[in-house]
Amino acid sequence: MQRIYLDYNATTPLRTEVRDAMMPYLTEAFGNGSSIHAYGREARNAIDTAREQVAELIGAKSPSEIVFTGSGTEADNHAIKGLSDLQKSRGEGNHIITSSVEHHAVLHTCQYLEQRGFETTYLPVDRYGRIDIEQLKSAVRDTTVLISIMHVNNENGTIQPLEEICQIGMEQEIPVHTDAVQSVGKLDLNVQEIGVNLLSLSAHKIYAPKGIGVLYIRRGTRLANLVHGGSHERNRRAGSENVPAIVGLGVAAELANKDTEEYALHLDKMTQRLRDGLDANIDKLHYNGHPDHCAPGTLNVSFESVEGESLILRLDMEGICVSTGSACTSGSMEPSHVLAALGLPPRLAQGTVRFSLGRNTTVQEIDTVISKLPNVIKQMRSLYRS
Ligand SMILES: *Cc1c(COP(=O)(O)O)cnc(C)c1O
Repeated sequence: MQRIYLDYNATTPLRTEVRDAMMPYLTEAFGNGSSIHAYGREARNAIDTAREQVAELIGAKSPSEIVFTGSGTEADNHAIKGLSDLQKSRGEGNHIITSSVEHHAVLHTCQYLEQRGFETTYLPVDRYGRIDIEQLKSAVRDTTVLISIMHVNNENGTIQPLEEICQIGMEQEIPVHTDAVQSVGKLDLNVQEIGVNLLSLSAHKIYAPKGIGVLYIRRGTRLANLVHGGSHERNRRAGSENVPAIVGLGVAAELANKDTEEYALHLDKMTQRLRDGLDANIDKLHYNGHPDHCAPGTLNVSFESVEGESLILRLDMEGICVSTGSACTSGSMEPSHVLAALGLPPRLAQGTVRFSLGRNTTVQEIDTVISKLPNVIKQMRSLYRS
């Protein structure tokens, strides 16, 4: 059976150009970027090129502001722990402001810091997952050392008012970090225009391999290191560089930079087609993404009187691969923290599915989903016990 992948927010396949660019560095060009001989220089040059490609994509002033990390998660950890640790040791304060809809890479890092004497304010969100700027303003304290708010949410695609957030950070002289893993490549992104201090991205969400990420550190932003060892990455992240993955990310960044607009248009068209198809064929459904501020490609839908996890499994049997908005905790269905933060009643949160579309999504795939889904929903509703 032909499989249909609609889970691009979880991960994306390698672009052919990315794989081809990586191949030499998995084979004959295997040097360590720290060696001074020809093999080492070859690796070093490849890393430098990738650093320039990533800097170009996000509009960094200089490639030296780009630090390669082991993942998007590590970049989030590095930003939050690195900045908080340093500020606390200088007696600058111990308060962090974040939101209630962040990725676990941010939420669990803040919780870890709370065990070490930090205080966190988790800003509430509206029913579509957006924070309120006035609430952010009033959350600021003398002791606030960091504001960390994601750009685009991975579950429902909602875009946060990042420029306004950074404006407050600048006025109050508080550094701002953003997890931009889901916005890079889909939205126009310019770190200098936005005025953000720290930004995380992940390669495997933009058609490059897993296990490689980036932390953008604006020049002048001081933070402690997360990984200690050699002097790699200008003394900011120790460990021999993952050269093939870095090369892959560089090429993916260059390609994304060329076609962000075209890609966003494709995602928009496909998402709209899916939404129209659902609206025409299925009743009692609710969309959880922001009507005006939503990144293209993500459609988060709650179906009334349906159990989401079973729906995912049924769709999987039909060859359709999507995600639920709920995490299954020890056999009992717990709605995800994001859906809970939107104020979605548990009954609805339970029946939530995330469709996330991508580069290879076709009209035919969307139409197949639309032709199969209504029957599946109908069957599941007939079996549903509330
Ligand atoms: C995927 C994702 C991450 C984690 O990135 P990894 O490279 O998988 O560690 C962090 N934040 C968001 C919003 C994501 O979607």
